[in-house]
Amino acid sequence: MKESYNPFHMAQAQFDKVADFLELESGAREMLRNPMREYHFNIPVRMDDGKVKVFKGFRVQHNDARGPAKGGIRFHPQETADTVRALSMWMTWKCAVVDIPLGGSKGGVICDPHDLSTREQEMICRAWVRQIARNVGPLQDVPAPDVMTSAQHMLWMLDEYEAIMGQHLPGMITGKPVGMGGSLGRTEATGYGVIFTLRETLKELGIRPQDTTASVQGFGNVAQYAIKLYHQFGGKVVCVSSWDQQDQTSYAFRKADGIDVDELVSITNHFGGIDKDKAAERGYEILDGNDWIAQDVDILIPAALENQVNADTVGRISKQVKILAEGANGPTTPEADVVLEERGIFVIPDFLANAGGVTCSYFEQVQGNMNYFWEKDEVLGKLDVKMTSAFIAVSDLARKHKLYMRDAAYIIAINRVVDACRARGWV
Ligand code: NAD
Repeated sequence: MKESYNPFHMAQAQFDKVADFLELESGAREMLRNPMREYHFNIPVRMDDGKVKVFKGFRVQHNDARGPAKGGIRFHPQETADTVRALSMWMTWKCAVVDIPLGGSKGGVICDPHDLSTREQEMICRAWVRQIARNVGPLQDVPAPDVMTSAQHMLWMLDEYEAIMGQHLPGMITGKPVGMGGSLGRTEATGYGVIFTLRETLKELGIRPQDTTASVQGFGNVAQYAIKLYHQFGGKVVCVSSWDQQDQTSYAFRKADGIDVDELVSITNHFGGIDKDKAAERGYEILDGNDWIAQDVDILIPAALENQVNADTVGRISKQVKILAEGANGPTTPEADVVLEERGIFVIPDFLANAGGVTCSYFEQVQGNMNYFWEKDEVLGKLDVKMTSAFIAVSDLARKHKLYMRDAAYIIAINRVVDACRARGWV
């Protein structure tokens, strides 16, 4: 792994490349390559042993020219200000590329939920809200679940916010539990969205899904639902990987005739970690976690972490691979992009491929505002329409001007955000 890897520098490098192409003026460029606002705060929590521990929390609002900022909250031991900055910027582009009226933000807490009791996690959620309540809200900035946070965390946060404000304000947060203001289909939305864009890619390349195989990094929310829908379309996943908390390393699990997703889910913990021994008993070949990228498959789906397809790993990608569908945020570095472009691998860029989650969060807000909730099929049908039309707009632009898919997606997103900033008189 490159020592110099920094997700914010990577997000800025991706932006700069397209800003040069668009010949963006210096004011707009300066404004968009940095967040508009950021908050860093301490979160004191009385732990179960009676001692107070202070956690570090963040909220970064990259841009809200197109509407209230929107972005998840991650609980992660390696969270950094620059990771949150990068993710907030990618949220701006994500909302813009699928054309929903929201800006971009992100939040986080440096902590490891593996080591926290349920009560301690609730206390962190409530204390996080107490620190930032003045700066988030339905018309300002709307958080959502992300890595290692769930619907339950969102509800604790909402409850604390409503207690502070003295009224019900369900639009303050999305990803709420169904029946408590949440939308049906939110759990599936990101993974399904990845596969809606993959389906369109295969159509464009003239490949039938049933003639393809895939390898997936990660086996959490995004990966599991992506695999389920890909299997429904007839594809075959032959390898998945996940993090093993006990061994503090990752493993890949291979079955040449295709993994059984339900069987694997039954031996996976709620952090997306697959039980290695039980997988071996069920006939899975256990490989080094990094080997997911080196499989002889047609499609690679990174759906775990940033910086996985980089200068050191891109050379391991098999000649057979035709498509990289980025479920994770920021899985590919600019150095690796150069190689992928040269090799003609079709990349479905992260902020397009994984926009299903935020699109469904937007649907949750729409339903909440009406206080009328749609059936799951209606939610997923509308999601398909949004994802498909966003994909077609990007791939049409890429084809017309012979652009790399990531650059085409950036051009559409940046143009929309710049137009909003100009219309408001900011730049
Ligand atoms: P998750 O916490 O549910 O799952 C993460 C998975 O990654 C787990 O299976 C974990 O074991 C695995 N993992 C962690 N470290 C690993 C490693 N070193 N090697 C292999 N596997 C490893 O998270 P998620 O919600 O599925 O999110 C995955 C990615 O998708 C993240 O980049 C996230 O930001 C992005 N994303 C998620 C959503 C969403 O709605 N959940 C939306 C957009 C983007």
